[in-house]
Amino acid sequence: MEQELVRSEKLQLVGQLAAGFAHEIRNPLTTIRGFMQIFHQSDATKGEHKVHYDVIIKEIDRVNSIIGELLQMANPKSVSTKSETNIGELLTDIYTLYKPEATEKEIAMKLHLEPMPTVYLDRSKLHQVVMNLVKNGLEAMDGSGKLILNATENSERETIEISIEDTGVGMDEKTVEMLGTPFFTTKETGTGLGLMTSFRIVEELGGEISVSSIEGVGTTFTIQLPLHAVKMYQ
Ligand code: ADP
Ligand code: MG
Repeated sequence: MEQELVRSEKLQLVGQLAAGFAHEIRNPLTTIRGFMQIFHQSDATKGEHKVHYDVIIKEIDRVNSIIGELLQMANPKSVSTKSETNIGELLTDIYTLYKPEATEKEIAMKLHLEPMPTVYLDRSKLHQVVMNLVKNGLEAMDGSGKLILNATENSERETIEISIEDTGVGMDEKTVEMLGTPFFTTKETGTGLGLMTSFRIVEELGGEISVSSIEGVGTTFTIQLPLHAVKMYQ
């Protein structure tokens, strides 16, 4: 027990250090990005260099996303705070957050909720997972398509089942096998950290995550949260 405590204190320290570094790096990055934006828009950088400024800004954004995801990872388990959570509300929040972006990309975003018991878990962590999956779903479609968020109680498996279904590019078997590997990304500006973090969190929550995907048709990620792990007042 004593050992465990020391370990979690150290983890907390690493987390604090990482957060400190992240902010120190982000501040100058914000300045650099701001000036790059000005150069990018000024007449002096017309022509062939315009494209280089585009790349610089994209790369700065990528560094920023990597820092953001590292920060999420550094967030130690010991600060996990469980609370009464209504999964329907949580999904509605995420739906509301991403609906405008979906509409802009002409993606039909739907939310299907069925009655579910209130659960007891770290709400912000589950929020982070579903957000990562919704983001990936939207990024898998370039204009048109469908993204469906489902949540229901699966009484046979005794779980709460949350699925995120898209009609995007889908994945071949090799890609599916790579999912969750740190820095594995097929996107120009991806970080390849979203799924790794999400898989880890689902495990922390006592759940399981699975994927089914068909190239050119779409992908469905399904999270199963066993009721025994998330029931109230445990
Ligand atoms: P990132 O989104 O930064 O690339 P992720 O860890 O979130 O990192 O995802 C890793 C890779 O998994 C993506 O680059 C993509 O190739 C694949 N992927 C994840 N979700 C989907 C999806 N819904 N449809 C198709 N491919 C996906
Ligand atoms: Mg992602």
